[in-house]
Amino acid sequence: MIRILPPEETRKIAAGEVIDRPASLVREFMDNSIDAGAGLIEVSIEEGGISRIEVADDGCGMGRNDLEICILPHATSKIRSLKDLGTAETLGFRGEALAAAEAVSRLEVLSSQDGREAWKLSSGPSGKVSFLEQSARARGTSVRSLGLYDTIPARKRFLKRPGAEAGACRQIFNEKALAFPMRSFRFSQDGVLKSFLPPVTSLRERFLQVFLEDKEANFLHEISAMGDGFSVSIVAGGPELSRGDRRLQYIFANNRRIQDYSLLQAMEYGLQGWFPNGSHPIGAVFVSIDPALADFNIHPAKKEARFADPNAIHQRVSAALRDFCRRAYSVSSYGDDIYPRETRERKQEEFSFERKPSSFGNPGDGGTSLSLAMGELLAGKVDFAPLPGRGSLAAEQTSPYTVDGKIHFLGRLFGLFILVQRGDGLYIIDQHAAHERILYDELITGPVAAPELLVPIPFFTESPEEDEFLLKKQEELRKLGIVINRGEGNQWHIEALPSMWKLGDPETVEEILSLKAAGENIAERWLATLSCHKAVKEGDYLDEGAALALAEKAFTLPVRRCPHGRPIWLEITREELFRAVKRA
Ligand code: ADP
Ligand code: MG
Repeated sequence: MIRILPPEETRKIAAGEVIDRPASLVREFMDNSIDAGAGLIEVSIEEGGISRIEVADDGCGMGRNDLEICILPHATSKIRSLKDLGTAETLGFRGEALAAAEAVSRLEVLSSQDGREAWKLSSGPSGKVSFLEQSARARGTSVRSLGLYDTIPARKRFLKRPGAEAGACRQIFNEKALAFPMRSFRFSQDGVLKSFLPPVTSLRERFLQVFLEDKEANFLHEISAMGDGFSVSIVAGGPELSRGDRRLQYIFANNRRIQDYSLLQAMEYGLQGWFPNGSHPIGAVFVSIDPALADFNIHPAKKEARFADPNAIHQRVSAALRDFCRRAYSVSSYGDDIYPRETRERKQEEFSFERKPSSFGNPGDGGTSLSLAMGELLAGKVDFAPLPGRGSLAAEQTSPYTVDGKIHFLGRLFGLFILVQRGDGLYIIDQHAAHERILYDELITGPVAAPELLVPIPFFTESPEEDEFLLKKQEELRKLGIVINRGEGNQWHIEALPSMWKLGDPETVEEILSLKAAGENIAERWLATLSCHKAVKEGDYLDEGAALALAEKAFTLPVRRCPHGRPIWLEITREELFRAVKRA
């Protein structure tokens, strides 16, 4: 038998969708205070917000008439019709939050527009009329919710422990504070002040204030970018602040936190290659978008947004981060890729490095004849093959192991590492990774030279998709040193390959066809493999001159990671070493 539920019941059901736990009330009340233009917003909760939540502000307040109706369903001052959603800049707009709060708890709203006249509205016990009385208050509004779900035991049972609910409330508080750095926020829990955030001037400073310690400030950056109809501000931590999980990653759209997995990915993608495997960046992406190009009305708690052109935003976010990393972490003449510029300058003072920019390959620069020879060698004019042991050309020079008077060759380790001292640091350089990156950077400026093969390598494709891929990419592949031409049917010929390519015919064909999976990144992938083939390997013996030349070149690299993302060296400073043996 079908029954129509009484309106009072349906109201509670609908309210439960908006208010599913105390934190939802904190979010809605804080949104209202922000929309009211408040400069100070104070949140206090008791028992995880279950027994009491109060949000007080110094915003515009409400007059008696507005106060009387503000808790009615669909009462809003923010839009007049659905049309206005295309231009609404406020956090609230549906006029349902106070009504929902009133359906699930006892609600009190105290408000004044001028600090002289103040009124207080109290909702009666469930379903009873509310009443209005004269009161006193400074300009602004206090909204109080008491006894959440007291009249809906089925929901109350699903609340978590007060500690967990308090944590969720605090989380919302942090999110709101992050998006509005110029306003003050306070959070108290069971009578104890837990957080006070005075106004700051940037999103970056607010992120720092909420989540980090002052000494971490140097590793937190703010980056801006613009697109068609939107702009983004990104606050991102460098590799120094990486975490094992993604908990400190936030996406905001028009100052609301949203769940947007693909934007989180765009952030990680932009920082890719700078973070060790398994670690995640921290940061927040703030998208400001023309409200006409986004729909925020698709989730009852406004936790999601739909963008007209999500790809454009993703691309701007990852491109901006990628550019930033290249600039911030690439080498000045002092090195230390993991430190952003400010820190680097400080370090430089501390240790007073003296290093002129490298004079390699630049004869007018007064480099020694040795370094010129090495420059040629590294510029690819001479093959960088491992040299025979001591007694070779380099070792016969007088004092050849110091370049610019500051880099000293110390030795080799485990057939892979070159040890050098530079300034106040010991550098343990992975010879393969370093050489790989050097070659890669040379190759990427392209095109790659490819001598014609005496005997072309014939092969057959296995699907029309493979033919299509080869036809489409034929030109791009040619620039990468792979010259292929189509014969009869599905037969093809490889007619030229870079001389440094080392694999046998079947593996070569397989490698070329597998580039299809690299999508946009064919060049990166191919050149990484190519430089890997050509680079000195683990176990290859480099004499001191060659090792030193490789180290010297490595210090001038703009990116201190091999093309696969591994770091090229480990640095241990004098200070760290002394501290490690408790001598500091
Ligand atoms: P919405 O925010 O979607 O408009 P709400 O139910 O949250 O709906 O609030 C209803 C109305 O009450 C708001 O439109 C606003 O006019 C008023 N209001 C609520 N909270 C405050 C506040 N803290 N200061 C001033 N006005 C408020
Ligand atoms: Mg609201």
